Amino acid sequence: MESQNRCSVIIIGAGISGISAAKVLAKNGIEDILILEASDSIGGRIKKQNFGNVSVELGAGWIAGVGGKECNPVWELAAQSGLRTCFSDYSNARYNIYDRSGKIFPSGVAGDTYKKAVESAIQKLRTDQNTSDVSDVSIYPTTPETPIELAIDFILHDFEMAEVEPISTYVDFGEREFLVADERGYEYLLYKMAEVFLFMSDGKILDNRLKLNTVVRELQQLRDGVKVTTEDGCVYEANYVILSVSIGVLQSHLISFNPQLPRWKTEAIEKCDVMVYTKIFLKFPKKFWPCGPGKEFFIYAHERRGYYTFWQQMENAYPGSNILVVTLTNGESKRIESQSDQETMIEAMEVLRNMFGPDIPEATDILVPRWWNNRFQRGSYSNYPIYANSQMVDNIKAPVGRIFFTGEHTSEKFNGYVHGGYLAGIDTGKALLEDMKTDNDRETDNGSVLQPLLALTLSQTDIVAGVRNCDIHTQLFHCNNKRGLTEAIL
Ligand SMILES: Cc1cc2nc3c(=O)[nH]c(=O)nc-3n(C[C@H](O)[C@H](O)[C@H](O)COP(=O)(O)OP(=O)(O)OC[C@H]3O[C@@H](n4cnc5c(N)ncnc54)[C@H](O)[C@@H]3O)c2cc1C
Repeated sequence: MESQNRCSVIIIGAGISGISAAKVLAKNGIEDILILEASDSIGGRIKKQNFGNVSVELGAGWIAGVGGKECNPVWELAAQSGLRTCFSDYSNARYNIYDRSGKIFPSGVAGDTYKKAVESAIQKLRTDQNTSDVSDVSIYPTTPETPIELAIDFILHDFEMAEVEPISTYVDFGEREFLVADERGYEYLLYKMAEVFLFMSDGKILDNRLKLNTVVRELQQLRDGVKVTTEDGCVYEANYVILSVSIGVLQSHLISFNPQLPRWKTEAIEKCDVMVYTKIFLKFPKKFWPCGPGKEFFIYAHERRGYYTFWQQMENAYPGSNILVVTLTNGESKRIESQSDQETMIEAMEVLRNMFGPDIPEATDILVPRWWNNRFQRGSYSNYPIYANSQMVDNIKAPVGRIFFTGEHTSEKFNGYVHGGYLAGIDTGKALLEDMKTDNDRETDNGSVLQPLLALTLSQTDIVAGVRNCDIHTQLFHCNNKRGLTEAIL
């Protein structure tokens, strides 16, 4: 099919990174943009759904990193939008650990186990970083074995508790976390951003520069732009593309690249781990769990690590909703995604009966998001492996030809978080503006002479892939910028 449109920039994906990148471009006068989004709404991994008469967050739920020396920009956006949030106090969770017979572990046992687990985790981190004092065997990391040790290990690591690692989010923005509990949803922040540059009416986006239900399948680099082909056979062209799909989607080959992405790029993408994080929502006719201060979170200790371990009651967020949330990760997430919701409900009810006795009422409804099996997500968020170095992160982020990469996975400091996606989008928008400026300057200076010469000297692949990544990847010319390459050729 013939190309329908030619615009300055096509943004693929309307999650927070795509929308924040588009906003930067629009604010800088680049308004002939097109946003292609595979699903039927904006937001991506920020997604609310009505469940049990309230609005629950299937994806991101917390604004993580609040109360520190710098202000988390997403916290600022939430404040400007008047988003309703609740402070999450995890500090008591360790004193609400249930065993399989419904007994709560004494606070001394729980406290000691927690302390040991934190020390062991810190020690492991030091060992991994090769900075440990190997002479002191007493502080070698220990392997969790008992149900309580496994439960604590799970919450420390799969929930990235601030005590263990110097995670930039907590170091820079603070250690407090606030749960978004607003009927308009976390996604309201994206609509507030979008209204600055897209036409909206009654809270709905009615701007034909946003195309929903449009799945991109192929990106072809042209001499002076990118051709984008969608699943329904439409073809669009732009001078540049910003690709904001998740790392899981990049690994899944939903989108093919012509020419193929260079090895340095595909290797970096493959090396990045994808975490799966699933919140299962259960609705009950009445409360049967302890309420009140210090009781929001509770833990189930089981001999299988991560088996329905971490629970939250929604009374703080939505009083009277009678909703419990249990969080599963990785292998357990994939397992429950592949079974029916009814089977998951049976498992969850058995766990709850173990904790609270046989007489508790049956759940009346269940909601199981499937982030792993969603072909537009393929997981919940990126996790750089422990051995990741800055070159790997640079390669994940680096543009290839006229395709710029963004998304939470490109944020070296804040990957995995909403603010990581938001800041990555801003960075990518700015980097692209810079590139456009250099492009314009070059065309003004040399345009008519240079383009044919380039075409004669290098293959098309070299031009698009080499010129734009010459700082790292062009072996041929070892130049530091495009001007350097131009001079080398001339
Ligand atoms: C269950 C869960 C819990 C989380 N909890 C938190 C939390 O509490 N706090 C926090 O800060 N972060 C949390 N996160 C992470 C946070 O949601 C993400 O880091 C952030 O939303 C990612 O934004 P993004 O723009 O990078 O990607 P996305 O939001 O994934 O945006 C990418 C968009 O691209 C679209 N797309 C994919 N393929 C195509 C295609 N072929 N063509 C067109 N469009 C395509 C997708 O539909 C999507 O809309 C959580 C994530 C999940 C899943």
